[in-house]
Amino acid sequence: MTTDAAAQGRANLAVWEASKPVNFFTADANLQSVLRRILGDAAYVRTEANLTRFGGQVATALDQWAREEDLIGNHPRLDRYDGIGRRTEQVAFHPNHERAGALIWASDMLALQAEPGHIVEQMALFYLLSHNGEGGHCCSIACTAGLIRALQTVGSESLKARFLAPLVGSNFDTMQHGAQFLTEIQGGSDVGANALRAADQGDGTFRLTGEKWFCSNVNADQFLVMGRPEGASSGTRGLAVFVVPRLLDDGSTNGFFIRRLKDKLGTRTLASVELDFDGAVAYPLGPLDQGFKTTVELVLNTSRLLNAVSCAGVMRRAAIEAASYAAHRTAFGQVIGAYPLVQEAVADCVSEYTAATASGFALAALLDLMETGRASEDQQAVYRVLVNLNKYATSVRGSHVVHRAIEVLGGNGAIESFSVLPRLYRDMVVLESWEGTHNVLCLQVQRDMQRYGLHKPFLRWMGERLDSVTAPALAQERAVVASAVERGADLLARITALSRTAQQAHARRLADILTDCAQAALLLEEAQWELDRGLATAKPQIIAHFVNAHLRPGYDPLDDPGYLDRIRFVSEAALRDADPV
Ligand SMILES: Cc1cc2nc3c(=O)[nH]c(=O)nc-3n(C[C@H](O)[C@H](O)[C@H](O)COP(=O)(O)OP(=O)(O)OC[C@H]3O[C@@H](n4cnc5c(N)ncnc54)[C@H](O)[C@@H]3O)c2cc1C
Repeated sequence: MTTDAAAQGRANLAVWEASKPVNFFTADANLQSVLRRILGDAAYVRTEANLTRFGGQVATALDQWAREEDLIGNHPRLDRYDGIGRRTEQVAFHPNHERAGALIWASDMLALQAEPGHIVEQMALFYLLSHNGEGGHCCSIACTAGLIRALQTVGSESLKARFLAPLVGSNFDTMQHGAQFLTEIQGGSDVGANALRAADQGDGTFRLTGEKWFCSNVNADQFLVMGRPEGASSGTRGLAVFVVPRLLDDGSTNGFFIRRLKDKLGTRTLASVELDFDGAVAYPLGPLDQGFKTTVELVLNTSRLLNAVSCAGVMRRAAIEAASYAAHRTAFGQVIGAYPLVQEAVADCVSEYTAATASGFALAALLDLMETGRASEDQQAVYRVLVNLNKYATSVRGSHVVHRAIEVLGGNGAIESFSVLPRLYRDMVVLESWEGTHNVLCLQVQRDMQRYGLHKPFLRWMGERLDSVTAPALAQERAVVASAVERGADLLARITALSRTAQQAHARRLADILTDCAQAALLLEEAQWELDRGLATAKPQIIAHFVNAHLRPGYDPLDDPGYLDRIRFVSEAALRDADPV
């Protein structure tokens, strides 16, 4: 028998559910402002209708389908043969997979890559899609986007004619999809240990033989595969990269065999397998001796951007869940959102997703400049540094943010049927490790700075962001960030003076301060733009919360008379623009 109290509690939860945004784009004033600033009014207006349509689909149909597809019993399963026993090496999906794919591809997310200069718009769609976590399709989008970029940049005309056009379009059923198979069992980070053999056939093709240990999106039509041509040197220098069509001209599978489907903690509606190649026909992509360079610069440096934008979308969704719950759940006679400890948790979520959004879209804008040949050498160097820093930082913070949001929902936060948060949390663990682990990325940044001096353009670029900030309301935080940038430069100098082993021990500390500085500088630049236009913006308070948490030396909230007001204000920022039913 339901008591009055239970009925009231359930009614409150129903109001909470109904209060959540039904459109992740129109509910996101921050995203709209970020896009308008980067794209300019005319381009923003051109893309607004599509983003509005897609933002509604992600918050409604796609949300529902992703949830159903992730239920136990609905996960992908191996379906290796067709009805009459021919090998197909396919994975079978729940019907929602197709439905979702049709909507996602129809958003033009990949079609936008037909012409250079649309990465920001593409990332806006991807950020929205990621409100549902990986959702079975984000990996496919990321892999296909990287393959498109590699083919466009280093593909021969014949390779482009055969492989590029089928990847770029809006029809999920008829377009081809890409996958990336780099990792082998003996080591993923240590790519130079890759051993898959590539035998030259003398006719422009190679035959691949060997294992790949992590192969996601295995139903793809084209695999980008890293392998070692026979006779090539060891290490990364001897690696080549190939495009491998799934099917041969006669429709049979192209010399690959799935060993098993991996049973994963997260991204469970994405099929990831272990796979053997046995004489697969492969086409070299770019110069044979530049496989590692091609893969890092064109493929990984694309998917690392997408990974980070995904984390920003996941964080934004977690913040919405937490903030809306806090506004409706009552405990001890008032809504929990009135309690400072809850406000603090939600404010942390809000400031982190806002920072991740700033750095993700700044990178997207830089990539647009690079793709259209308008990026200076400095800007290219900044992209190289920031894409690695940002992949690291946003995935670490993403897990933390989802965890904080789960805490706000209490025990309900751990329940799969209650909210999206458990799925987001599981997906975040994967987003942390693929496309480069934390240590590997931080060490890469440190090496790039020490070996190639890339800290110089990076520091200059942060200085330029700060120079554009003149509003008195931002002056205090600007000064803190400027001095943190100096501390970052000083830390690099101190680390460089250490032994090689000691240098490695501090790579993450360096990455932390540099990413925090970059995100804070970008947030300040955004806030200046919003203030210049007289927009009602929560960003100055969000920046203060972010800067105090990460960059202000010796900051103690106890000594900060504005702390209570700020966490209350910032915690409400995620909801301020939401559009309840
Ligand atoms: C669900 C899922 C799907 C995936 N799908 C794909 C896919 O489709 N294609 C693909 O190619 N890969 C895929 N991966 C693999 C992923 O990219 C690798 O797991 C990742 O690159 C790390 O490699 P590893 O697992 O071999 O870890 P390792 O390289 O063995 O690393 C183990 C630990 O050692 C640390 N470490 C390594 N070297 C150093 C060092 N020099 N200093 C300090 N620490 C170090 C790492 O940071 C990490 O913490 C997938 C992974 C997952 C989880």
